[in-house]
Amino acid sequence: MREALGEARAAEAAGEVPIGAVILFNNRIIARGQNRVLRDNDPTAHAEVVALRVAARAIGNYRLAGCTLVSTLEPCAMCAGAMIHARIDRLLFAADDLKAGAAGSVLDVLNHAALNHQMAIEHGLLAEESTALLREFFQRRR
Ligand SMILES: [Zn+2]
Repeated sequence: MREALGEARAAEAAGEVPIGAVILFNNRIIARGQNRVLRDNDPTAHAEVVALRVAARAIGNYRLAGCTLVSTLEPCAMCAGAMIHARIDRLLFAADDLKAGAAGSVLDVLNHAALNHQMAIEHGLLAEESTALLREFFQRRR
């Protein structure tokens, strides 16, 4: 999660909303992603999707079975859907997103009863740090 927060800080330094993600396979980081929607003019360039693309290229497979995705913020519906397509095994996220979270806060896309793929989810690790990063970012922009 420290590594994901590092990605979030790098996003912030580039003027983006500070959200970061890393993907682990066999306890090793195989991909990093940071929010880059503004830089890339890409509404899908959320940290999680960016990291998923890098990881799939690294593994040479669009299925990321056995991988853990670590994100500083609860994933949105798009990212949750992408994680299901990738068959991510485990999701670890820091802060809940009460406005757009799709891992239970607003929607429950992950582990929806109708879906085959079930994912282990843990959250709350370094949540205060992640929330503070986002809060300070939006306060500065006002
Ligand atoms: Zn997202």
